[in-house]
Amino acid sequence: MSIHCKVIVQTYESTSKEILRESTVFDLEVINPTSSLDISLGISNQLEIMKRVQDHVVEDKMTLVTDSYQGKCPECQHKLIKAGMQGSPLHDVFTDHTVYLQRQRCPKCKYKTPSTINTLLGTPITGELVKIQAELGAKHSYRESEILLDLFSNTERKINNHDRVKNSTESIGTAISGIKKLETEVLEMKEADEFVLNVDGGHINTKETGKRSFEALTSVIYNPESIESNSTGTRNKITSKSCAASAQEGSNDIINYTIIGALKQGMGPKTSVTALCDGASNCWKVAEALKPLCGSMVCILDWFHISMKMQNVSLPEKLKSKFLRVKWHLWRGNSDTAVIRLDQLQDSITSIKEINKIKKFKVYIENNKDKIVDYRRRHKNNQIFTSNLAESTVESLINQRCKGQQHMRWSRDGLEPVLQIRASMASKGEWESIWRTAVLNAS
Ligand SMILES: [Zn+2]
Repeated sequence: MSIHCKVIVQTYESTSKEILRESTVFDLEVINPTSSLDISLGISNQLEIMKRVQDHVVEDKMTLVTDSYQGKCPECQHKLIKAGMQGSPLHDVFTDHTVYLQRQRCPKCKYKTPSTINTLLGTPITGELVKIQAELGAKHSYRESEILLDLFSNTERKINNHDRVKNSTESIGTAISGIKKLETEVLEMKEADEFVLNVDGGHINTKETGKRSFEALTSVIYNPESIESNSTGTRNKITSKSCAASAQEGSNDIINYTIIGALKQGMGPKTSVTALCDGASNCWKVAEALKPLCGSMVCILDWFHISMKMQNVSLPEKLKSKFLRVKWHLWRGNSDTAVIRLDQLQDSITSIKEINKIKKFKVYIENNKDKIVDYRRRHKNNQIFTSNLAESTVESLINQRCKGQQHMRWSRDGLEPVLQIRASMASKGEWESIWRTAVLNAS
């Protein structure tokens, strides 16, 4: 026996159930499966069914658009004249369509009804495709995104070309910046007792002339209670956090985004904030900006960065143990003694190269003296003193996207929207709640 299956789409009147029109979108012989390759309909058939069902439904939607004018010019109420059908493209997540819209014009005032998807909606791309393109573009290179999109569409589609992915990413990222500028005024959150603020910068290779790199800043705000320990050897996870990032020059944008993130985490006049920074003045500037908005703030030079800096000062074996003494004092917050020890160390060596290394580290300690605390006591009391409890924000927001491929060069303006989307995706619940608004606000 040979059997077939067909898929019919019907449009019917809602109450009377009268069938207004129907189309057979698919008709296929059912075969006895022999392997995992022919058990299913196959991706091309599945996509084809979806495309044709959608063609049918969109055609119905277009009839509703035409009917909504009731034959009258919306400008002068004169009777509209039908002027043929116009085909225009519509691009959805998996499929491309040509949509036909009735052209109507007013003989009196020359008004024309929108006759393409682009003039009707302002874009020929569905919101969900833009969202997916932006999300992929923020995670992968634009060329990789093109390959991934085409893979799931089972064909090469012009709409998924890397330039289009770039456009979507940039327009969504820019829209997020715009939304955030408005958001500050409307946030209402339960006030938090405390949270941790961590500001850090990352360097990105640039294509701007005369420079090798520029710095982008990131910040993360979280309640210390939301640190969830992972298996040993891996970094902990922060279950609820707000992330911000900006590639713009100066601190204004990152400060704004950080304030929004802090408000989302419940910053109020009673909140006590622990700010951890690597010692760079532009990072402290971000923390300082929050000071007047919260109850109190403790600024701490990130122990992780102190350790890293010390590790990077490579000294000959005989000087290493003396240098470690300095760490012993810093761990206890004795920055003055640490500086004295560094001076003594400096006096005991002759190599200019080594002296310079010590000098540089000493300047770093002196510049951040007032932010060096008794790390040992904080450690004992289970208080935050280091940023390496959780994954690095610079690593996850910047490096994972920007340092994956060699020779990748960015401009500040090109990176900014990517960072906005990545920060949004890294912040608890944010991307899910913001992408629709971003799609509608994207230009
Ligand atoms: Zn008119």
